[in-house]
Amino acid sequence: MAKYSGPVCRLCRREGVKLFLKGTRCMSEKCAIERRSFPPGQHGQSRRARVTEYGVQLREKQKLRRVYGMHERQFLGTFQTADRRAGITGENLLSLLERRLDNVVYRLGFASSRKQARQLVNHGHVIVNGRKTDISSFVTKIGDVITIKEKSRQIPGILSALEAAEGRGVPNWLELDGTAFQGSVRALPTKDDIEVLVNEQIVVELYSR
Ligand code: SF4
Repeated sequence: MAKYSGPVCRLCRREGVKLFLKGTRCMSEKCAIERRSFPPGQHGQSRRARVTEYGVQLREKQKLRRVYGMHERQFLGTFQTADRRAGITGENLLSLLERRLDNVVYRLGFASSRKQARQLVNHGHVIVNGRKTDISSFVTKIGDVITIKEKSRQIPGILSALEAAEGRGVPNWLELDGTAFQGSVRALPTKDDIEVLVNEQIVVELYSR
């Protein structure tokens, strides 16, 4: 599937919820969902199409996929991994998504969005357990220590993101030492830790059709 390069706020308006794709703007009154909370497009305000069961499942999957900025094939691969693991597939899926390295960098506050976090990882600014790790889909585990490379600590984007993230806070499953530009995974994330309200069971149903 081709990479979406259009305005990302449209994606939030399509899903009808904030997906937090634009960093600090998402917290401001400039957020498009706050100003135009109807679907994008010519008929966004008028047409109310009948939504089928499949449509509901598809929207829920798209919502989750877009939050983490993943391609369809990559998302399916993560689902299949979740399905193979012991336990509840939906919960496994959320845990795998949330523990992605780009998401962890974002949730620790080193980046203002997941997109920015992915760039930091891909450009080699992030170290996991003492080793440079430039794979954004790397799945972290309990005990992993994530550090910003020493040479990269003056990057303005990282400093401003850390400042902005102070108000947002760090989720319970992570621990941050801002002055050391270091964070760690202290527990597995649960559904309550996900930033966007999502019904993962509906996503499982979609892939089980
Ligand atoms: Fe745009 Fe962020 Fe608001 Fe979504 S949450 S509409 S990306 S500003």
